Amino acid sequence: MPNETVSTATSPIAVETGEVLVQVTNVNKHYGSLHVLKDINLDVRRGEVVVIIGPSGSGKSTLCRTINRLETIDDGEIRIDGKPLPKEGKALAKLRADVGMVFQSFNLFAHRSVLQNVTLGPMKVRGKSSSEAKERAMELLKRVGVDNQADKLPAQLSGGQQQRVAIARALAMSPKVMLFDEPTSALDPEMINEVLDTMATLAKQGMTMIVVTHEMGFARRAADRVVFMADGQIVEQNTPEEFFANPQSDRAKDFLSKIL
Ligand code: ADP
Ligand code: MG
Repeated sequence: MPNETVSTATSPIAVETGEVLVQVTNVNKHYGSLHVLKDINLDVRRGEVVVIIGPSGSGKSTLCRTINRLETIDDGEIRIDGKPLPKEGKALAKLRADVGMVFQSFNLFAHRSVLQNVTLGPMKVRGKSSSEAKERAMELLKRVGVDNQADKLPAQLSGGQQQRVAIARALAMSPKVMLFDEPTSALDPEMINEVLDTMATLAKQGMTMIVVTHEMGFARRAADRVVFMADGQIVEQNTPEEFFANPQSDRAKDFLSKIL
């Protein structure tokens, strides 16, 4: 993507290939007196991989959570595929299916088998038959390399395997976009790459992705765009090549000097 289209948070983002799938416009959010999201504007096009980085407490998780309405916003607007976020009911359940999310903590259903974890959503929300859901689930479990664990309970799997099941579970809903909020930060080091590789493959296959991570190698390798957040704001955004070689703001320079 050419640099001039993504230089600052406030510049209008030119429409390029692929329509805007996630559109966050002038979003503000407070927790009490804490202004946690400050006039956030972020457009993500179909097929784009956006990696959000920034110091702890800068609002990255909150932003992700507002996009599938786990959190409400005070003002502004969020649209997925052109439609404003629904507030409740079936429409909200469908939105959550359209916006797959994988969190830092393993959030599988503990008392359901791996296979059931992946089939429940499609049966409940997408109205799939049990056999259809199972067939698709096994396909997806195979794709993330854990099909041989299908009958186990989540606790019997390693953290890396559990995160890959979580990815399969989200994919089973045929999401339009996938959100990842530090999916590897609770993993033992030797398991990080298996999850990042799964995500990188997904990115290559054209999935639209918003990824919060501290894994700069992943950002370099898989991101179309890096968005740097600090203190509730998008401070700068650019291609990974430009961002890492040439950070513009003092805050980004400071952040990178600490982690690279
Ligand atoms: P990040 O993911 O970038 O580390 P978060 O979005 O989790 O940042 O948090 C941003 C700020 O909002 C932090 O100061 C955090 O303490 C605060 N915060 C997050 N969730 C809540 C909440 N549910 N209630 C009150 N404050 C919160
Ligand atoms: Mg966070």
